[in-house]
Amino acid sequence: MRTPALLLLGAVVGIGAAVPATSVAAPTTRSAGADAGCATPLFDAPVRAGDARREDPAGFRTALAREPGSAGTVAAAAGDRTLWLDRCGRAFYRDLAPDDLPGTPAAAAVGEDVDVLALHSSPGSDRTIYLDLDGHVATGTHWNAVWGIDEVDTAVYDFEGDLTTDFTEAERAEVFALWEAVAEDFAPFDVDVTTADPGPAALTRSSTSDREYGTRVAIGASPSGIGACGPCGGVAFLGVFDEVGEGIHDDLQPAWVFTDLLGGGRDGRIVAEAASHEVGHTLDLQHDGLDGLEYYSGHGRWAPIMGAGYGRTVTQWSRGDYPAASNTEDDLAVMARGGVAPRVDDHGGADDPTPLAKRGGSKVADGVVGTSADVDAFSFALRRAGTRRITVLPTGQASNLDVRLTVLDAAGKRVARVNPPVPAGDDTEKQPSPAWLAADTAGPLPAGRYTLLVEGMRAGGASRPGWSDYASLGGYRVSVAPLG
Ligand SMILES: [Zn+2]
Repeated sequence: MRTPALLLLGAVVGIGAAVPATSVAAPTTRSAGADAGCATPLFDAPVRAGDARREDPAGFRTALAREPGSAGTVAAAAGDRTLWLDRCGRAFYRDLAPDDLPGTPAAAAVGEDVDVLALHSSPGSDRTIYLDLDGHVATGTHWNAVWGIDEVDTAVYDFEGDLTTDFTEAERAEVFALWEAVAEDFAPFDVDVTTADPGPAALTRSSTSDREYGTRVAIGASPSGIGACGPCGGVAFLGVFDEVGEGIHDDLQPAWVFTDLLGGGRDGRIVAEAASHEVGHTLDLQHDGLDGLEYYSGHGRWAPIMGAGYGRTVTQWSRGDYPAASNTEDDLAVMARGGVAPRVDDHGGADDPTPLAKRGGSKVADGVVGTSADVDAFSFALRRAGTRRITVLPTGQASNLDVRLTVLDAAGKRVARVNPPVPAGDDTEKQPSPAWLAADTAGPLPAGRYTLLVEGMRAGGASRPGWSDYASLGGYRVSVAPLG
């Protein structure tokens, strides 16, 4: 890709003389070639951050000054060839599309009563990640200036041809799986991942006192006019989730995911990898690479979300605790600072267990393992001895949680501990709901009270790399059922 010529403004605009990226609300129509996004462009075309740092140090420093909260990230990630600065100096990632993709096992069918464009992971939350699947047109944004077009027009998510939201059964299943996978990635946070249009107020952050905000992820085939773009699987401005200012926040939206370069959207969980990754950038995350490569594609059955885990069954947030990691930033802490607060813990520990609730002939509860230190406890009683099956099933078809279940009797003595080993081998495609992430045990139990402990675990070891317990997090259902 050519390196755009740099406009040397360093002598004119230095650090401390920076102006806000924009100071007025974005008009709905604006010439794409005009100064969209800022009063004083720094560069005459988008430029790689590393090229700007080398060829125009003063301009690069000014660009850093225009990155509220993200200057440190830009400075740290400037060597990443996918990190760019737009004409205004705002940083964005052009994420490369994968060269090849794994197989695409079909997602589970979705019931007829489910409206896949009305899904919510945490309705009522102040923060929103809007997976926009019904088409989106951007005008007057920084993206219009980046690509030099008046309208960036993304079509409806579609892989069976009619380009309407009248989805086929297969499309409904993949849309559901897409949403489910992104919701799972953000389960540790107080944020609503939704496919329903939440309206502008739920996304825009108009002032620092505005507590309701978020990001839109426009998901569909590459809009015409954006050129080869890498070619890109997705793009996002850096650290803009909590950007303040009606026009400013909106002008740096949305994040985009381009399904035509991700297997046409035929596997919702593949698209979800890109969607969570782009949202990660809006929350100020940089890439998890390896030895100079921007994207670490993982090992065995695992990859980091901020790498490229398209074929791995387990993709998790990371703090670089894998061999030769390029980036040891604490993803969860960075995102918490970037706009999404950790979810309030839903269940106490062993000294404060939640009683399981009767449902049919079983006793059940739902929960979320929200941190690596989180141990959720549940209790149940047996009036008479009997055989019981106790299961903890991670939520959905793209879980990040590798469960360990511990069963204690009334005296606190361990009755059982279950955490199936992860089978050796390299994933060639994502496995939906593998049994080795779940915990399942059955046997005779004497009458009495029992406590169940549910936590996320690491996998692998020195001889076989797996994952740490850092982000072995997510939703689950625990159940106790009579057997035989
Ligand atoms: Zn990226």
